[in-house]
Amino acid sequence: MVGSNYPPGVTGNEYEIAGPDLTWEDQHYCDDCEKYTEFDFESFRKIISGRCAVCSNEIDLGTYGDYFVDPDRQRDEQMDKEEDSRLSKGE
Ligand SMILES: [Zn+2]
Repeated sequence: MVGSNYPPGVTGNEYEIAGPDLTWEDQHYCDDCEKYTEFDFESFRKIISGRCAVCSNEIDLGTYGDYFVDPDRQRDEQMDKEEDSRLSKGE
């Protein structure tokens, strides 16, 4: 029995249970303030949302890939490239 502690339809990965994957602060343009302000960002299941620290305007930024490259993935791709170039130099 997996996840039997949760009611039907609840996996335990819901926002209320699992919380955001990541939170950080960054500058972003706020339509309400009509300038760049500090935003509190968070990602939940690879969807990024932010809230203006000045006026609490909330924005959606879409998924991870649209916004920034996952550093781990970037490093893996770099290692793949190095691996490829090493192999192609082989005799
Ligand atoms: Zn604002």
